[in-house]
Amino acid sequence: MSAVIDWRVLQVHWRELLMSSVCQLRRLTMTKGELNRMNETAPIALQEERTAKTGSFAARAYSARSATSALAPDSVKRRTPGPQDVQLEILYCGVCHSDLHQVRNEWERTMPTVYPCVPGHEIVGRVVKTGSAVKKFKEGDTAAVGCMVGSCGVCESCRLGLEQYCEKIPILTYNSEDKVLGGVTYGGYSETIVVDEAFVLKVSDKLDPAGTAPLLCAGITTYSPLRHWNVRKGQKVGVIGLGGLGHMGVKFANAFGAHVVQFTTSANKTADALRLGAHEVVISKDAAAMQKHAASFDFILDTVSAAHDLNAYIALVKRDGTLTLVGAPPMPLPVSSFGLIFGRHQLAGSGIGGIRETQEMLDFCAEHGITSDIELIRIQQINEAYERLLKSDVKYRFVIDMASLK
Ligand code: NAP
Ligand code: ZN
Repeated sequence: MSAVIDWRVLQVHWRELLMSSVCQLRRLTMTKGELNRMNETAPIALQEERTAKTGSFAARAYSARSATSALAPDSVKRRTPGPQDVQLEILYCGVCHSDLHQVRNEWERTMPTVYPCVPGHEIVGRVVKTGSAVKKFKEGDTAAVGCMVGSCGVCESCRLGLEQYCEKIPILTYNSEDKVLGGVTYGGYSETIVVDEAFVLKVSDKLDPAGTAPLLCAGITTYSPLRHWNVRKGQKVGVIGLGGLGHMGVKFANAFGAHVVQFTTSANKTADALRLGAHEVVISKDAAAMQKHAASFDFILDTVSAAHDLNAYIALVKRDGTLTLVGAPPMPLPVSSFGLIFGRHQLAGSGIGGIRETQEMLDFCAEHGITSDIELIRIQQINEAYERLLKSDVKYRFVIDMASLK
């Protein structure tokens, strides 16, 4: 197993599972030089060997060749669709901050990046081919792929529709072991992708396809914890960070009837936060403004991608309230025990969402007219988009128009 995603960073038992996989163990015994050589050669060698059994074809993509190189045009292999497979022509792909963490190997200690890395797990496309056993899709349908393309299917989590917590580790859309072709999986910064129909989602005609792409990660990653912690009318709910995840969190918390407070470091996002559905906005650098909300929240969702002070937010949660992390900064964040003890506060984490819940979220969005607020870019602007993400300068999700790759 080469790598996993964002949400596992914070879960030690998952890390242990990860460590137990054969590939990971091999990696751990390798020096950096050996690892780099393997990144350059092994996926291709493995692909050649297994491709003898499974057909493949070349697809245009954008990849990073190292942690410090810019994303650039590349070609990757996709498998010839098997009986259960759906092939999508990718129309739009959202740009998640996880793509940036992964491309730059910022999660190296937990899940090293295998290069070349083709990121992208917010995919909306048109079905161009279906295998003989495919039931849900036909040519011409609009369909979507999110952060996972497979899982064991038999463990308790998978049976409950919680594939993101698969005990054997789900196969992620990129930088995960490709069990068919060998090497690693390649994501949505590409013209096409082939995925088992069980991991392909239906997209209603009511939804704008470009604004739908970010729902596949930013959408489900915020919808799932808000549902799990039963956010509802009568509750006071906070969302920290107004980026890709944050702006979806605000929309959903508002749609579920909560009183929503947006925490932001960017005062210039105040009007947007209110337009997106926040009832109040707090500039988190203002200690007095923060203090006014002490011990008052039922639930706070933390979407921040960089180091920040969790204790300042634990202090805002009321007795038995919860602060849930979905943001995955690369570094550990210190937590004061007393902040949790006084008030029986709960600190939790949440990872994307299962396939069933992702479909439920997409259907909810179609019913309620919810999509992401996007900045449509050409693939050639991707490196500039990453630099802007680092400056918290996105309104509120970059989406790549994949026609620009042709
Ligand atoms: P994003 O669009 O870059 O948004 C992150 C926001 O965090 C920024 O817009 C900014 O909001 C705030 N922020 C950034 N640096 C900060 C700092 N130093 N201190 C305080 N606030 C800061 O990123 P995203 O795509 O939403 O992803 C957010 C995080 O979630 C990433 O770490 C990503 O890897 C992770 N993620 C996790 C999962 C999961 O399954 N758990 C899934 C997807 C993504 P303001 O300008 O409003 O302050
Ligand atoms: Zn993501």
